[in-house]
Amino acid sequence: MKVVLLGINSKYVHTNLAIRYIRGYLKKYGNIEAAILETSINNELPEILRDIYEAKPNFLIVSTYIWNKEYVFKLVKEVKKVLPFIKVALGGPEVSYNSEEVMNEFFEIDYIISGEGEESTLQLLTKGIEDVFGVYYRDGDRIKHNDSQESICNLDKIPFPYTDEELIENKEKILYYESSRGCPFNCSYCMSSIDRSVRYFSVDRVKKDLKTFLDRGIKILKFVDRTYNLKKERYMEIWRYLLDNYNGHTTFHFEISGDLFDEEAISFLEKVPDGYFQFEVGVQTTNPSTMALINRKNDLEKLKDNVLRIKENIHLHLDLIAGLPMEGYETFKNSFDYVYALEPEMIQLGFLKILKGTQISQEVDKNQYKYMNFPPYEVLSSSHISYSELLRLKNIEKVLDYYYNSGKFKKSVQFILGNFYEKNFNLYEELADFFEKNAYFKVAHKQTVIFNYLYDFYTEKGFDKIDVFLEYLKYDYLMQGKPGFYPEWYRKDKNKDVYGEIVKNLNFKTNREAYKKTEYEGFDYDILLNRAGRRELLFVYTKNGVEIKESNL
Ligand code: SF4
Repeated sequence: MKVVLLGINSKYVHTNLAIRYIRGYLKKYGNIEAAILETSINNELPEILRDIYEAKPNFLIVSTYIWNKEYVFKLVKEVKKVLPFIKVALGGPEVSYNSEEVMNEFFEIDYIISGEGEESTLQLLTKGIEDVFGVYYRDGDRIKHNDSQESICNLDKIPFPYTDEELIENKEKILYYESSRGCPFNCSYCMSSIDRSVRYFSVDRVKKDLKTFLDRGIKILKFVDRTYNLKKERYMEIWRYLLDNYNGHTTFHFEISGDLFDEEAISFLEKVPDGYFQFEVGVQTTNPSTMALINRKNDLEKLKDNVLRIKENIHLHLDLIAGLPMEGYETFKNSFDYVYALEPEMIQLGFLKILKGTQISQEVDKNQYKYMNFPPYEVLSSSHISYSELLRLKNIEKVLDYYYNSGKFKKSVQFILGNFYEKNFNLYEELADFFEKNAYFKVAHKQTVIFNYLYDFYTEKGFDKIDVFLEYLKYDYLMQGKPGFYPEWYRKDKNKDVYGEIVKNLNFKTNREAYKKTEYEGFDYDILLNRAGRRELLFVYTKNGVEIKESNL
């Protein structure tokens, strides 16, 4: 029997963990060599159809998520046209809670593996269908399901998911890993709240796995544990191990609950090397009534104290969700400003999705939710927020990406906020309206153009202190790399030929090389100390970024 496990990722840099766990499990407990076929939704469907055809499997097992569901459904309709005798099975959260409905709609699907996939897939490939648990199957016109599969109690049974070749080939991609399954919390919109039991891989096993990633010099390893910091002794032991084995190259990403840390954990985190750990923290809302309705009890004071202590060396991604119950446009502004004041590396502004099986999907009428009938099932309006308000927030999300998450406008945006806005939200709201009015959202933009728009916005608003603002904007512009050209607003201060001196001082071989790799610029405002005064800086562009040197050539 030839088995292909198909993973269709949302981006090229992602990898699919689920199919790798299943591959290892089939090999170890069924002596079945399943092949992995991996692609992304950005690839043309005929190409993947061709790859499946050329692999000629008897059994195709497809991992189905919210981002690939439509792609998968289109694909399964085509597969049997070219391989009529193939058996097609789907698994994953997008088909686990409505399996019968999906099989009724798509006759090409022979099986749906509902819930945890390893043991059910093994049974499906090695036993008679009557003895298989956790799988929906066809019996003539009827769809049957024997019983649910029991979860694997001892997760250490599941082999390490990646082969050595994959670790070498994919070391620059994002690799995923889990040290636990399940979440004890009960957030009403989240699929992970459906099964609230939590199971763990043993700490020894986790350490062994992490050593493999560290030795291979993986760039980013994302823990997919739903809430990593649940059991203090355990998570601290793993972190201490990571600190003892710091390799200066790998970044570890964790989804954590920001208010669960105590003093010992925070003091430890303050010592972690800069950029070694990255945290994703789901704040979602700061509105007390909303928190109560979605079953989240964030301790906002504690979260704030913790975040402020670790943000210097831990990269933080803070998440918000628009469209939650009782969260209107006005209350959302407060949630935004709370998160913004914590100055995380990134603010992820998400929109509520109504997912099958979740508590919130039972509360659609109560909240007067209207939402999309197809993935990503996003809310379009509710009793507390209108479609036009949500569209405005979508625009804000885009300008937030340009002017905050990109990290490219740190000084110029900070200057605007510090001088002209009391609430940070209002700047992004006005920027979003400015983009909308000028139809800038309708076209893709080069980086320089985004700088030009900020200048245009500033002048259109009639803000004073333009001379100072332009010095900050120039500084941000130079931090992006050696300018290919100078925009109209750019006030070039240094025109004299200084490259002979730079060659001497920095050991470049030629003037040309010095010209390509540096920029010497003067500022009529001290942009580093934020006060009146003069600064002359030499920007040196290297493989690892920009170095700034004080200069007086
Ligand atoms: S949102 Fe996070 S904390 Fe809440 S149930 Fe889902 S995984 Fe758990």
